[in-house]
Amino acid sequence: SRFSYNFDTPTFKGISEFDARLFIDGQFVDPSEEGTHVVINPVNGQTIAHIPVGSAKDVDIAVQAARRAYATTWGLHISGAARGRMLNKLADLMENNVDELAALEALNLGHYVFPILFQALTFGRLSGKPYLFAKQFDFVAAINTIRYYAGFADKIGGKTIHSSPEKMCYTMHEPIGVVGQIIPWNAPFILAWKLAPALATGNTVILKPSEITPLTAIRVASLMNEAGFPPGVVNIVNGVGSTVGQAICEHRQIFKVSFTGSALTGRKIMEAAARSNLKSLSLELGGKSPTIIFDDANLDQAVKWTAHGILSENANIVCFSFNTGQACSAGTRIFVQEAIFDRFIQKLKEQAEALTVGDPFEQSTTFGPQVSEMQFKRVMGYIASGKEAGAHVQCGGESYNQGGFYVKPTIFTECSADMEIAREEIFGPVGVVFKFKDEAEVIAKANDSMYGLACSVFTKDIQRAMNTAHKIEAGTTWVNFTNFPDHTVPFGGYKMSGFGRDLGEYALSNYTQVKAVHFNL
Ligand code: NAD
Repeated sequence: SRFSYNFDTPTFKGISEFDARLFIDGQFVDPSEEGTHVVINPVNGQTIAHIPVGSAKDVDIAVQAARRAYATTWGLHISGAARGRMLNKLADLMENNVDELAALEALNLGHYVFPILFQALTFGRLSGKPYLFAKQFDFVAAINTIRYYAGFADKIGGKTIHSSPEKMCYTMHEPIGVVGQIIPWNAPFILAWKLAPALATGNTVILKPSEITPLTAIRVASLMNEAGFPPGVVNIVNGVGSTVGQAICEHRQIFKVSFTGSALTGRKIMEAAARSNLKSLSLELGGKSPTIIFDDANLDQAVKWTAHGILSENANIVCFSFNTGQACSAGTRIFVQEAIFDRFIQKLKEQAEALTVGDPFEQSTTFGPQVSEMQFKRVMGYIASGKEAGAHVQCGGESYNQGGFYVKPTIFTECSADMEIAREEIFGPVGVVFKFKDEAEVIAKANDSMYGLACSVFTKDIQRAMNTAHKIEAGTTWVNFTNFPDHTVPFGGYKMSGFGRDLGEYALSNYTQVKAVHFNL
């Protein structure tokens, strides 16, 4: 029930040791039924730890603790300023432990980015973009997100509406009560996107991390008491989706669930919400986002962003897509205007082939593994389906033969829009590249998807950029860069990529309900 691991990383050397049980009512407790889930190191497939997992009964115990806290120490029983202070304290504590948190995440996720984060944090600044990247993603981004919402905690207010000489009304934005939050493995620090606005607005929380990557969420749980949150305000119930996740969605005393994960699970969550108590939902789901490169674009810039999925010129990390393609807003449907098509493919291949594959703790590593064997097999299955369907493999198309769950960055051309590889979210380093003639054609093709999470457009023509952004059916469009959420800007999808928005001021409305009080003057 205790997690212990001896790290030897550039910035964190020593033992990370903490209670890894369920965090309920301000304490670490054993699950009510015995059960563990094995956490695997994706670099070599070896077991890192057996982590206790909960059940539906534990969800109910956590809900009762959260209800007590809401009714006594939280909700309308504490000032917004006090809630904000606790969130800021949590951010400070995470900052103090950022090296350990980063090490845990790299261990669990096999994430190639962390060497850069380590360097950035150690030396303050490396080469601009990686540092910016490290700041804006993962831990520093999580910490900034928490501070951002801490600032809103005492600024939640309504309106007065004087609708006629005899009538006036005021509105209040009240918390919902106990909210459920379920997060995926590809970005465990989405925990900050979820917890911070919910707590700032006065809700109490039951959060379930992914059973595949629970380590950092459990470590953060151990900071909650020191940050000053009263018992029951934050409860972290680790467990598998079909038990703990399902129980959260079916619980009749939870009236809101915020979920980030796949569309498939999103559908199950809607069904459970409908069956139980019509709870409100926000769903941040998957995508198959288009990257559109017009022939006037800065080609090198477009290739680098497309290849990296996220990093810019100075980056020494090369990956076909950020997080080895395990990113919801990865721009994996790539549309290139015909005049630059051949040059673009050549340069993209060069980027993809210039990788240093390896362990995320090695300084030279620029490309890591898929998170799990299941994910590895899934990605390889899609690659096989692309080959069978007759698409042309420009590069990659196979795994690295070195143990662990490594897939070579793979670029397909000569695809038709109805192939699986062109329609479905692969969630790996696999991109399909299409040729297009003009703006109207590419907008129609880009919109021919059930998903609508994000889009990237590369052009020097501002009118073309705006016109494309306005016609694209997606919640986010990046112009001349890609895959770079900002905690001050709403993020979420159109169509089957979900509804509701995380981040920005908008996310506060996920966690409040409006009460109107009318007066007959
Ligand atoms: P997933 O849907 O398999 O799992 C997500 C979470 O849901 C996990 O915690 C899992 O345990 C839980 N879960 C599984 N079955 C459940 C059920 N029946 N009821 C309740 N909870 C259940 O997704 P994943 O594989 O962990 O993550 C990858 C997916 O997440 C991709 O589709 C990706 O695009 C998406 N994602 C979206 C965003 C976004 O902001 N839109 C961000 C990151 C990831």
